[in-house]
Amino acid sequence: MNRPLQVTVLGATGSIGLSTLDVVARHPQHYQAFALTAFSRIAELRALCQRHAPRYAVVADAEQARALQAQLLADGLQTRVLVGEGGLSEVAVHPEVDVVMAAIVGAAGLRPTLSAVQADKRVLLANKEALVMSGALFMQALRDSAAVLLPIDSEHNAIFQCLPGNYSNGLTKVGVRRILLTASGGPFRELPVERLAAVTPEQACAHPNWSMGRKISVDSASMMNKGLELIEACWLFDARPDQVEVVVHPQSVIHSMVDYIDGSVLAQLGNPDMRTPIAHALAWPERIDSGVSPLDLLQIGQLEFRAPDEQRFPCLRLARQAAEQCGTAPAMLNAANEIAVEAFLQGRIRFTEIASIIESVLERQASVAVRCLEDVLAADEQARRLAMGWLDGRGC
Ligand code: NAD
Ligand code: MG
Repeated sequence: MNRPLQVTVLGATGSIGLSTLDVVARHPQHYQAFALTAFSRIAELRALCQRHAPRYAVVADAEQARALQAQLLADGLQTRVLVGEGGLSEVAVHPEVDVVMAAIVGAAGLRPTLSAVQADKRVLLANKEALVMSGALFMQALRDSAAVLLPIDSEHNAIFQCLPGNYSNGLTKVGVRRILLTASGGPFRELPVERLAAVTPEQACAHPNWSMGRKISVDSASMMNKGLELIEACWLFDARPDQVEVVVHPQSVIHSMVDYIDGSVLAQLGNPDMRTPIAHALAWPERIDSGVSPLDLLQIGQLEFRAPDEQRFPCLRLARQAAEQCGTAPAMLNAANEIAVEAFLQGRIRFTEIASIIESVLERQASVAVRCLEDVLAADEQARRLAMGWLDGRGC
């Protein structure tokens, strides 16, 4: 009998991490948690270790590691606790690991995700920021490796499911006219524009259809999430930005579509629950139960579609510009956004200032060509510095 596939979950305590472990636990003969990592919420990581008995746990600093190691020993577990970036990379490339779920939020996930690709793993990519930052290098590393990359973002997972197996020959060659990237429009789709400046982090994090981490929730509210996804789609499917059209679809039932030159449009539908793309990517090319309830179209009744409003959501325009500019522009966009979203969550800036900060950084920092990872990391660092300068001087 085959042994269960060994799964490392980077960002195990997050929304995607927990959904992944939920699917893994439904199939103990096929999947086993090998390593679980967390940056905070260490008590939750301990509880996950008790439930999944992984070989390794990874935390951010040595003190956390010592405390958790003592607790796990007292729990009678043999889990070894590792620390920091070194620990993340170790569990991403470990020879016994088959699958790596990349579910750390933000730029912090880039190195371990890239390491997993270079180590020929099956990489389940939720961490879109890693790909947005380093797209060209990331996709080159993928081509140079025997790794398999499967998109977890529901839209990209849907597109992947609607494309033929040989899509990497080029979208035009396989008859694709364009990709239709659906967006819910977030919690502020209908809010009068003049009230956007006064919305709170709690309102921004209350997404109408999906339950997610706080950073991606704010990104969804500003539609920067769709902007990052546009860049992600360009890299994953080798599409030009003008081949990706954003369509607002408030019900989040169609997760995206592919429009072919013969007039066929293929869509993937499902309830908005991330366990579907996670189960798809874990089992691909087979199918397994994800625990998601069947879609009840009669209950849903209507599906609506609208054009996105770039006046209301300037982040979408900024992301499209960065996608067209290429070079280090997407890394700068992402870094400025991470600083701005954190500042908004801390109550330091207004919601509408997120776009102002990003625009100011992109105006002040020139995009340059990317030759190596250091170019990306330098652009990321400079954009963070500029964004923090904006916060200190409030716009100066
Ligand atoms: P989350 O905030 O719920 O979880 C983030 C995880 O990353 C946590 O385990 C946290 O401990 C860890 N982490 C945070 N900062 C870290 C750092 N500096 N170093 C190491 N680990 C760190 O986020 P989430 O909603 O699960 O999203 C994770 C990723 O998946 C994001 O890139 C997001 O864009 C993407 N994604 C999420 C969803 C969703 O439904 N939640 C959907 C599509 C894509
Ligand atoms: Mg998505």
